[in-house]
Amino acid sequence: MEVLERAYAKLNISLDTPFVHPNGDQEWDMLMVAIDLADTLTIRTTTKHHDIIVESTSGILPLNEKNLAFQAAMLMRNEAQVSEGVEIHIDKRIPVAAGMGGGSSDAAAVLRGLNRLWKLNRSEQELAQLGLQIDADVPFCVYSRPARVTGRGERVEPLTAKLPPLWLVVSKPAISVSTPKILRLIDYEQVEHGDMDKLMEAVNTSHFNQAYKAMFNVLEPLTATRFPEIIKLKEKMLQFGADAAQMSGTGPTVFGITDKHSRAKRIMNGIKGFVSETYLARLIN
Ligand code: ATP
Repeated sequence: MEVLERAYAKLNISLDTPFVHPNGDQEWDMLMVAIDLADTLTIRTTTKHHDIIVESTSGILPLNEKNLAFQAAMLMRNEAQVSEGVEIHIDKRIPVAAGMGGGSSDAAAVLRGLNRLWKLNRSEQELAQLGLQIDADVPFCVYSRPARVTGRGERVEPLTAKLPPLWLVVSKPAISVSTPKILRLIDYEQVEHGDMDKLMEAVNTSHFNQAYKAMFNVLEPLTATRFPEIIKLKEKMLQFGADAAQMSGTGPTVFGITDKHSRAKRIMNGIKGFVSETYLARLIN
């Protein structure tokens, strides 16, 4: 038996981390969205063997237990108490290690896919709780709808108000950012937190111009100290007409937002000459 699942990239419209738990887990407060830049996973179960086999069109991903999709298959097999083999093919489109949650989204897609194949009837909330064992972004990726995400990533509250149709120009400079290294740079006494409640209020009452002004990512200055091109890229997005621009996650991906397709294309064309790995994407609402 076989199912297809789309694994959407995530962007952090806003990101705060108020403190770190004694065991080292990060506490988060984020407004997250999914975009239609996506991997496609073909997930197959078989009684011919008992292995988990991961294949990918990307040459740089681990295909063993280090792959988050593999880990999700292991989790679901334990959950379902089955020993069937699982074969996963990942058609990789989401840039790797970009701050777009590609691995987490693949894992979430495997949770959803095996839930369907084995008719486990787990709710999104149950899959999200399971997924937290893999990575903080997996619970959000199970939903892949605009949501405020708090706690260690396990509290996902989808927005009640619908966002307008938005275009996102997503640009990944050719630099590698290590998430743990950036997280270690945070000085909790010094860090300037934004006002997430104000942002949520603006979003929930559809005051999008106010929302754009209230967007923030506390990690952006840390990554930008090491890689100043992130700020230059942000400025270019704004110059070409984005209503707002910001780094996602720990970077290096920067995105620009607009509700006009013509303007999104102008930003896209302008940025492409500067950073070749640039995509035009739509919000998943
Ligand atoms: P994070 O911020 O959670 O570190 P990211 O969103 O920046 O992640 P990913 O594309 O998820 O980036 O890749 C992070 C790391 O996870 C890479 O080193 C990659 O080798 C590993 N990884 C494991 N499984 C996958 C997968 N299925 N897709 C992408 N990366 C994966």
